[in-house]
Amino acid sequence: MDSKTQRFNIVGPCSMESRDQIEAVFKVAQTIGVSYVRAQVFKPRTNPNSFQGMADEGITILKDLAPKYPDLKYVCEVCSNEHFDKLVNVASVIQIGARNMQNFELLKYVAANFKNEFVLLKRGFSNTQKEWLSSAEYLISGGIPKDKIILCERGSRSFTSPTGVSLDFINALMAKEAGFKVIIDSSHGTKEARFVLPLAKAAIAMDFDGVMIEAHPNPAESVSDRDQAISLEALTDFFK
Ligand code: PEP
Ligand code: MN
Repeated sequence: MDSKTQRFNIVGPCSMESRDQIEAVFKVAQTIGVSYVRAQVFKPRTNPNSFQGMADEGITILKDLAPKYPDLKYVCEVCSNEHFDKLVNVASVIQIGARNMQNFELLKYVAANFKNEFVLLKRGFSNTQKEWLSSAEYLISGGIPKDKIILCERGSRSFTSPTGVSLDFINALMAKEAGFKVIIDSSHGTKEARFVLPLAKAAIAMDFDGVMIEAHPNPAESVSDRDQAISLEALTDFFK
């Protein structure tokens, strides 16, 4: 694939929970030809008592599995400078999540120390187009070329949507107009498994640069974001 037609589809569980769980996902990603996998070891959680991610143990597993899955590339969220330092040599894509979109010191640190393939910047669920692009500007003015930035639309908090979130395609289209690569996260953008694939399909039809989809070997057992997790079988069917 040349860079013009490259799709940045990203699949994987909300959080990495065990070696077996992540490896089951990697096998499927390899089979369906999706090369970017969610390899999330640090989880920003609303409640401090919720699972916070496998952290260092997860990083050890990711390093261990890398030679076995040479075609896969890890997408890892960082919430702090320390997370970045631990993942800079492990992740192909550094993810900055919705909650950290305006963590300006983190944006500056990532830009100053960046040596990865891409940085993925999600729009905060209450942030405007202008704020999103201004955060991207922090990355650019810190030295990251624009073509190494992938913007990810993950939905807005909504008073009217029954799931509490509305996927905001207008923000995504305007980010594309501004010359960025843009992908659609239809998992966090819908919050319910039954809506994830229809909206991913819409995103592909609208010619975005890719989709992010959360999938789990056993969705009912997913430790985080269980309601939006789709099965690996459904994921496989979709990419066929
Ligand atoms: C995620 O993708 O793991 C995540 C936490 O999403 P968001 O930042 O969009 O809530
Ligand atoms: Mn999630």
